[in-house]
Amino acid sequence: MNYYPYFQLAPVLFGRGVAGQTGEVVKKLGCGNALLVTDPGVAAVGAAETVRAALAAAGVAVTVWDQAQMDCPEQTVRDAAAVARAQKVDCVVGVGGGSVLDTAKAVAAVSVNGDGVLGEMPLYLTGQKQYAVPPLDVIEVPTTSGTGSESTFVAVVTSDALDCKIGLPVHPAYGVVDPLLTRTVPQDITAYTGMDAFSHANEALTEQKASRHSDLLAYEAIRLIRDDLPAAIADGSNMEARENLAFASNIAGISFNESGTHIGHSIAHALGHVYHLPHGVCCANVTPAVIAFTARAYPEKMRKLGELMGAVFSSDAPAEIGRAAAKAVREFAVRVGVPTFRQLGLDEEKVLAVRDAVWNDALAHAYGGSFTPEDVEQMLLDTLG
Ligand code: NAD
Repeated sequence: MNYYPYFQLAPVLFGRGVAGQTGEVVKKLGCGNALLVTDPGVAAVGAAETVRAALAAAGVAVTVWDQAQMDCPEQTVRDAAAVARAQKVDCVVGVGGGSVLDTAKAVAAVSVNGDGVLGEMPLYLTGQKQYAVPPLDVIEVPTTSGTGSESTFVAVVTSDALDCKIGLPVHPAYGVVDPLLTRTVPQDITAYTGMDAFSHANEALTEQKASRHSDLLAYEAIRLIRDDLPAAIADGSNMEARENLAFASNIAGISFNESGTHIGHSIAHALGHVYHLPHGVCCANVTPAVIAFTARAYPEKMRKLGELMGAVFSSDAPAEIGRAAAKAVREFAVRVGVPTFRQLGLDEEKVLAVRDAVWNDALAHAYGGSFTPEDVEQMLLDTLG
């Protein structure tokens, strides 16, 4: 591609303590009555209360709904949207990890357009259908460093009808990224979410829309995760590491929002859904397999990624670049404590069970090179190490 747009979907306020300014952000957007969406875990560590208090201090009316669940099941969106309608809110503030941020986005669309939206998500995702009413403003306050959802155009919702995860397009109005809110993330979730951000950066490098701009953000996210994920795992109160990870997650989000994710996320979504595994665990196990494959069409990019991760190459052959870069990333994931698929009970038969789902997923075909069903099969087997 010799021309490309580059942009940032929504403004971001970044820095330690900025959650305290969420009320001003909401008011600047012209809103005054918010539904604060969060989950029990985030409520328990006080992050939701920090934002609720900031909203109240700025004179914003707030209703707190704290029942969001992992991977945004449809019913939770219906439940929260009913509360939004009853309270006649004019904006939705998401405070939490990716599951909460996505719930907040989906509620912003569904509360004003009706629950029927959830039955037609593929039509909205592919642009065959537009919202009759623009979604409410969504202000996203992440409490994990992984998804970058505060800067991406979709909510990932678990669809009942399709029995899989699917994207519902909703643009955030503002991201408020406060690294202090991530201090309480436990070690395992720190590792999983860090590898999620890594997978965004990796796939953004080889999606069809990859550009010089999205590459720049992706490599920098990888460099920061390489240094700061082990540091945050070693000491969760290391705020410099937490801040760098929050930044890496956000710029990886901007990178893949502009470029995209592809086969790796199709595999991660399918395996995560079928075997009920956390998204970041799937991304961590899938990413080396994707690197080994994409090095065939993108040897230079995968060499650069591998060099950043300390890979040692014995030749310039694409297969060797892929092998060595994949090995370095797999070892990194193990070092930060992500369990392997085998440790989680997956085997050849189980991973191959999602082969057709991956091949038939439009997301996979956003990859910038060509691939066959046999390549998908090989990548699935490679996720086992
Ligand atoms: P999550 O939101 O599911 O949260 C995992 C756990 O961490 C929860 O129990 C939560 O309560 C807890 N938690 C969150 N913040 C905490 C904190 N500060 N302290 C203590 N505990 C905390 O996990 P996630 O990995 O952030 O999000 C995963 C979801 O995001 C998946 O559904 C995935 O599909 C989606 N996703 C969306 C996008 C997008 O662009 N919209 C991108 C990537 C992933």
